[in-house]
Amino acid sequence: MAEFLSKILYSLKRAGLPLAGVVFPPRCRRCGESIERYADALCGSCCAAVEVIRQRPSCPTCARTVAPFEVRDGRCRHCRRRRLQVLAAVRVGEYTGELAELIGSYKYHGDVSLEPLLSSWLVEAILAAPWHDRIEAVVSVPTCRRHRMDRPFHAAEAIASAAANATRLPHARILRRVGTGPHQVGLDAEARAENVKGAFSLRRDVTLRGPRLLLIDDVKTTGATVRECAKVLHRAGAAEVYVAVLVTVRFNPEKGTRLRSI
Ligand SMILES: [Zn+2]
Ligand SMILES: [Zn+2]
Repeated sequence: MAEFLSKILYSLKRAGLPLAGVVFPPRCRRCGESIERYADALCGSCCAAVEVIRQRPSCPTCARTVAPFEVRDGRCRHCRRRRLQVLAAVRVGEYTGELAELIGSYKYHGDVSLEPLLSSWLVEAILAAPWHDRIEAVVSVPTCRRHRMDRPFHAAEAIASAAANATRLPHARILRRVGTGPHQVGLDAEARAENVKGAFSLRRDVTLRGPRLLLIDDVKTTGATVRECAKVLHRAGAAEVYVAVLVTVRFNPEKGTRLRSI
């Protein structure tokens, strides 16, 4: 029942009906502080805290957090001398602090009222990239059927659609997940790469609408998933693959990651 009511409320908020504001005055989605409009989603101090995370520099090729002096010829020590399958990558920020809380609420608790805000940050990151006007279509990393059943929506697909709308590019749903495969959680980098090998393929009866593609996912950890997807896209004729993700997770090779899943 509670879930049903909250779904109705989300629909009202999405529709922007004034009634929602009368019955449920707008509050910061993170800390609960009163705010002026639903559309703002965050109060001033939560916004400022996320802004600090968004401003941290990242590698222009793999999107990991790096100090600017660590980047040489567009690559950091993590991605130098590696075949990445992607030409460049951007992100909103690292999976940490207030941004991690917002991603958790959106992805795992289905708080879709955060979607416009998260997507607008992603679009800002894409438009700030020097390669953004080369992109001809947006592609999202698909989820497996088991996840599709478990969750009310698929985050990567939803933000890819929002980004495609904002950039006026087609959202080409051309990838599909083959099989379910175990979760990536708790696996080391090598096991992660092995785990996603052959996990994606091109949908039948689809053709690429342009050779320069932007691949979108919600979370990037070692990059094994986007690399594997990019490989499929290249085999299908893509000439350039760029990546945009909401967050990158700092990967600890000893412990893996504690993030629930990617
Ligand atoms: Zn707040
Ligand atoms: Zn890098």
